[in-house]
Amino acid sequence: MQATNNSLTSLLRALHFAADKHRDQRRKGCDACPYINHLIEVAEILSRVGGIEDLATLQAAILHDTIEDTQTTGEEIEARFDAEVRRLVEELTDDKRLPKAERKRLQIEHAPDLSLKARVIKIADKISNVRDVTHFPPAHWPHPRRCEYLDWAEEVVAGLRGTNPAVEGLFDLTLREGRRILAGSSS
Ligand code: ZN
Repeated sequence: MQATNNSLTSLLRALHFAADKHRDQRRKGCDACPYINHLIEVAEILSRVGGIEDLATLQAAILHDTIEDTQTTGEEIEARFDAEVRRLVEELTDDKRLPKAERKRLQIEHAPDLSLKARVIKIADKISNVRDVTHFPPAHWPHPRRCEYLDWAEEVVAGLRGTNPAVEGLFDLTLREGRRILAGSSS
């Protein structure tokens, strides 16, 4: 029981840390929901759908956007959590000094090089993003841009497979549904 309690406390600590770091941010989508909703969704997919109980994976899922999108350093994550969580979050962090198109290309290129734990987090991240682009797209995104996002996500996930069949299956389902909905609203 002690270990379970410790794990829960560690998970909640990650949630508290991420909520604090992202407190002023909202998702880009038209519902502009608080950023933390995305992080909870990614961790929840891994736990419920993927059956994942590994603490580092769940913590890194919650923290995966802190370095990229907030003033958080790898050192800070290692000090608060541990070296493995830091490594996972760093694996999931794009180099923001590069132009957006280059970052997107590198996500496809680097996908197969990620560790297994980082891969499954990234697939869950893409599930959450594809859902948002399908149901709550940013107001200024025209229809073709939404379709292109889905195509790109599919390419990234193609390089991430071989980790967790249930999470990969949910991505496929989410992508199919997104394409079906976008095909029905092609104006
Ligand atoms: Zn994310």
